Amino acid sequence: MTFALAALLLDAGYALSAPPLQHDASLPPARYLLADQRLSLEQAMASSNWLPLTAKRANQGLSRRDHWVHFTFDNSTDQPQTRFLVSQTSYLDTVNVFYQDANGTPQALHLSDRQPFSERPVEYRTLTAPLTFAPHTNTDVYLQAYNQKTDSVTLGFQLLTPQQFNAIQQRDYAAMGAFYGALGILIIISLVFAVMLRQINALYYALFLLSSAVMWLPLNGLGYQWLWPNAVYWHNEGIHLSYLGFVFFALQFSKSFLQLRRFSSALLRIFQILQFFALASIALRLAGFYEPVLYLSFILLILLALVIPLASALVWRQGLGYALWSLLAWLLYAAGLISSIISATTSWLPWGMTPLLLAQSASMLETIFLMIGMATWLVNLELERQKALALANEDPLTELGNRRLLQTAFEHYSNTFSRDTRPAFLIMIDLDYFKIINDTYGHDAGDQVLREVGQLLKRNCREEDVVTRFGGEEFAILLRAADQERALSIAERIRHEFSTNPTHYAGQDIAHTLCCGIAEVLNTQWQPSVQEMMRHADEALYQAKAAGRNQNHLYCP
Ligand code: GH3
Ligand code: MG
Ligand code: MG
Repeated sequence: MTFALAALLLDAGYALSAPPLQHDASLPPARYLLADQRLSLEQAMASSNWLPLTAKRANQGLSRRDHWVHFTFDNSTDQPQTRFLVSQTSYLDTVNVFYQDANGTPQALHLSDRQPFSERPVEYRTLTAPLTFAPHTNTDVYLQAYNQKTDSVTLGFQLLTPQQFNAIQQRDYAAMGAFYGALGILIIISLVFAVMLRQINALYYALFLLSSAVMWLPLNGLGYQWLWPNAVYWHNEGIHLSYLGFVFFALQFSKSFLQLRRFSSALLRIFQILQFFALASIALRLAGFYEPVLYLSFILLILLALVIPLASALVWRQGLGYALWSLLAWLLYAAGLISSIISATTSWLPWGMTPLLLAQSASMLETIFLMIGMATWLVNLELERQKALALANEDPLTELGNRRLLQTAFEHYSNTFSRDTRPAFLIMIDLDYFKIINDTYGHDAGDQVLREVGQLLKRNCREEDVVTRFGGEEFAILLRAADQERALSIAERIRHEFSTNPTHYAGQDIAHTLCCGIAEVLNTQWQPSVQEMMRHADEALYQAKAAGRNQNHLYCP
């Protein structure tokens, strides 16, 4: 992606430094002419309205007028010379070139987007005329350019030697290949995520990237060359459908990425309305309307540049951290879009194709930012999943683990027993006459006793021991110990501490005791199932209770 970005920026730099049509100071400067209706070559030559073609005049904005350019080529060599006359934009749809070729024959070359791609004299993404010039002559070249329907017109042409043209093509295809390659890889990754994680958000991201590629392909002239070389009508008149598709999916993705349903129903409404307009515009275009849809699509693209950064900023301030990436991404988009729309529809930014390439670079950077945003979102998703899992394994009253945790922990002990062969013990604990405590002091006092048991158990166990509230007033500790004596001494400590430390509650001291049943649950001879694991410890607990109360009992077979 970084490579794509660098290649695009480099391309933009070259486009900015493109040589003017007329670089020989001894010749008259290139001129241009505008007319409201189509002129013939003779009418154009005879016109008195020719003006010098400066870089400032190259951007003609949205237009269906007739545009002419005239320049003189000086071949002072002994050999015929070949040059490629290359249009910088892919949206100019008709170019006619009139000149005398190397044999002195008058030529009229008709280049048009209204022909299938294969009929172009040069297979290049923009209209390109190969010209040959006779030795020791000055040749006048007249060029007529217009759109059959209103569209943006840039009189940016370059006259390139075969070597220069070759170099431009290589640079171009490297940049475009990297751009579309990066988008393609991201699309595949997000589709994989969408399927594997069952996250609709990732699917919307993939669709957004796809719609972005589908918007850039015709702008670069590559859609025609690579994807639909015979679809003359759609290539010329379907371009704003791709803008509208982009608008729709950008809103769809942002809606779910920014969690608008949760954060702001007003913004959600606005997004939905804009999406409705995008769909309605598509329907209008399919019903045959052209110009209204062209303007609608520009308006929607601009509104996109307003509402998505606004929504990102709002939800970011409301605490959705990764929305910052969306904000940065769409601010960049806004800058790129506004400069290229100004450049395409007005004559204010006389930098030829540079704004478009800059917008494309911004779009690549935008994709990178959104990708970081998506990665942050995925990390959050995983953290939330872990939190939910921890909650599911926790007892809310004592904040110890619960029965489910005891079971998974025991499974883990069993599965790793081949690596850690220290025997494991289960200490089952049951409070004595707890019902009486409840009945005497009340249920809240009973709860307070249970909480204190929780703290007592944690104090007396190591970090690695699994301390759980098994249910009601029963607790269980799963631990590894060198031998039975160690396990018994831990239980003894717990029993003793509990019986000598009454619970202070509402100005009263609640005396209490407990019993422990201890059993070895995992050793080289015995590796029981989860269901079987409790049996011996339970039996030992029963023995302890039977021997009076405030007792510990170690299971012996
Ligand atoms: P024993 O010595 O035989 O164990 O007698 P016991 O009263 O402790 O046993 P029993 O199983 O009859 O009573 C357990 C009591 O624990 C009954 C129940 O109301 C109480 N209990 C269970 N869960 C909670 C709880 O979350 N909070 C409180 N306060 N009491 C609970
Ligand atoms: Mg009980
Ligand atoms: Mg009890």
